[in-house]
Amino acid sequence: MTNPSLLILAGDGIGPEVMAEVKKVIGWYGSRRGLNFDISEDLVGGCAYDKHGTPLHDDTMAKAQAADAVLLGAVGGPKYDNLDFSVKPERGLLRLRKEMDLFSNLRPAQCFDALADFSSLKREVVAGLDIMIVRELTSGVYFGEPRGIFVEGNERVGINTQRYTESEIARVARSAFELARRRNNKVCSMEKANVMESGILWREVVQKVHDEEYPDVALSHMYADAGAMQLCRWPKQFDVIVTDNLFGDLLSDCAAMLTGSLGMLPSASLGAPMANGRPKALYEPVHGSAPDIAGQGKANPIACILSFAMALRYSFDQGAEADRLEKAVEKVLADGARTADLMGPEGGTPISTSQMGDTIVAALEASL
Ligand code: NAD
Repeated sequence: MTNPSLLILAGDGIGPEVMAEVKKVIGWYGSRRGLNFDISEDLVGGCAYDKHGTPLHDDTMAKAQAADAVLLGAVGGPKYDNLDFSVKPERGLLRLRKEMDLFSNLRPAQCFDALADFSSLKREVVAGLDIMIVRELTSGVYFGEPRGIFVEGNERVGINTQRYTESEIARVARSAFELARRRNNKVCSMEKANVMESGILWREVVQKVHDEEYPDVALSHMYADAGAMQLCRWPKQFDVIVTDNLFGDLLSDCAAMLTGSLGMLPSASLGAPMANGRPKALYEPVHGSAPDIAGQGKANPIACILSFAMALRYSFDQGAEADRLEKAVEKVLADGARTADLMGPEGGTPISTSQMGDTIVAALEASL
């Protein structure tokens, strides 16, 4: 049997630094758990622009389309700030998401006990929190036509269009229900059906998909503004939240911040199943290229490592090994390992990016 293929695009800034630690983890799974991947590496973002004059070469795009999963570090940096919009590093990332048609963006908000005091909310509100926001990623108001700035009479008008087809809503709803079945079997769908027709359709379609295909999953509906309040008031009431592109953008950032540091947050973007049954998939930390700390060994590699845990779970059907990796991260944090971004007011000595990677690999080894 051939090994599953993994395309690694480390990118810019701290991307290669955090990815080096993920590679240690992947190496451990190969040597100690017999989980081997055919790994190839390529460029995305500023480094791709430097070499090819484009943030994503066509050959890299083709490799991403063919890979069982893509693992990305981060793109961007001040060096590229003045480039033309069409070749900015972020365009490489957007092209990947668009051409792979990654319509379902999974953003977990998980609060490790050891870090509960980092949240701006009270410890009891966030300790043990484990929720998943599923954001529709390829449609809605960020893509709908007409859009633009037009002249009407003697002034300009800015227009964007919130547009969803039934099939676009149904496919992301299915993705949320499937996820819920692997978790606590609860989905809350959020929209603004009180003031938006697209919200009325969203609610109807999510309900229909539920009734016809997922009656075993508990489904509730909430207006997105009320949802934002509930996320801050008592986030543990949720398991999976499914919502559109715009509300998902806001709600997932809000939920993420419940948990403290940007260096801890993984994400997955999934598309339709390929011929082998695996979904098209891109895994990446939520954070950017952090130019302020790049090259200093200060970056926290955990978001990128947890993104690989998501790949184990959602692309490679290795839920137990994903649990093992998440528990290893939890254990090293409980034992007090901290990169600089995780230093609390009590102080202490931070460890480096590579020490954090080594500590996590040691915890994996200890789990055997
Ligand atoms: P950023 O996420 O790179 O950094 C924000 C702050 O968080 C910085 O102080 C940084 O040092 C810190 N930080 C981020 N990740 C960290 C980690 N793993 N460990 C420790 N500290 C960490 O966001 P920014 O500063 O707004 O953007 C910097 C560059 O990254 C820009 O060029 C931006 O366009 C790009 N960016 C890329 C992505 C992506 O690749 N998905 C996402 C956001 C921003």
